[in-house]
Amino acid sequence: MSPIAPPSGRDRLRVAIQKSGRLAEPARALLASCGLSWRESRDRLFCYGESLPIDLLLVRDDDIPGLIADGVCDLGIVGRNVLSEQDLANRVDGTGPRFRELQPLGFGGCRLALAVPETWSWRDASQLAGKRIATSYPQLLSKWLADAGIDAQVVLLSGSVEIAPRLGQADAICDLVSSGSTLAANQLKPVQTLLESEAVLAGPAADFDDARAELMELLLRRLDGALRIRRSKLLMFQAPRELLPTLLPLLPDAEAPTVMQIDGAERLALQALCHGALTWQRLEELKRAGACGLMVLPVEGLLA
Ligand code: ATP
Ligand code: ZN
Repeated sequence: MSPIAPPSGRDRLRVAIQKSGRLAEPARALLASCGLSWRESRDRLFCYGESLPIDLLLVRDDDIPGLIADGVCDLGIVGRNVLSEQDLANRVDGTGPRFRELQPLGFGGCRLALAVPETWSWRDASQLAGKRIATSYPQLLSKWLADAGIDAQVVLLSGSVEIAPRLGQADAICDLVSSGSTLAANQLKPVQTLLESEAVLAGPAADFDDARAELMELLLRRLDGALRIRRSKLLMFQAPRELLPTLLPLLPDAEAPTVMQIDGAERLALQALCHGALTWQRLEELKRAGACGLMVLPVEGLLA
């Protein structure tokens, strides 16, 4: 039997991830950080789970919702944009809901946005009435237009949406934006966000009623731990003892810090596990409040 045929025994979990593209490596890295390892097949489409009975299927991201819906895969890592578009299509044609978002994964961040030529003076969305809008996300765009009560023409393109206005195919576009540099390079500006997206773990609409339920729970638990570690950093600094009451309130997301005495009783060294983002701004704030020798270290493991 080919390893890609639907699994007959339901004691292994099959997870679809993007074969190549923006989500491919981060998805593998995240699953590997959950303790998963695989043996790759020669065609590089299927990876057999070695450390746990969790296999990977490497596919195009657009195929992932359908593979889950058809039961070919049990779970998938895919952009919320792709999942929501397919979910809407299923609801519109009466076949959905067939899958659901189980867990946002903190990478692949972008937004689905409306963009118009830079030369437009933008007031509000009513300016789109009667215009042609190019997109690869016809369901999400049509729903947003309907909800906003705007009658515009949706022009479906499968790629290179951003050049449609220059080619005269459309007046505006609705596309994925992250930095905005692609839009700027095409003399377009974002004017309205339709959906905030990131990579998510997706699964079928109904719960598993066999051994896969336990495997999925294990994977979700490990993902939760791995994502918490990614967000956590160890912050170390020194400060005069009398500044402690000023500095500690600046660390509301820190677990009880370890305080060590150095240089007699007057100087302290602190180390704290922080669960929020330690931005430059926060570090500068701590420095202004009297902290010195600030150091931020990644956390490799965490066992409470
Ligand atoms: P495939 O060959 O698998 O169909 P693709 O070209 O459709 O690949 P990518 O460009 O690799 O897909 O994007 C995959 C996902 O990455 C998107 O669906 C989206 O969720 C996310 N993403 C993050 N930033 C961006 C961006 N700036 N443009 C497009 N997608 C982005
Ligand atoms: Zn794709």
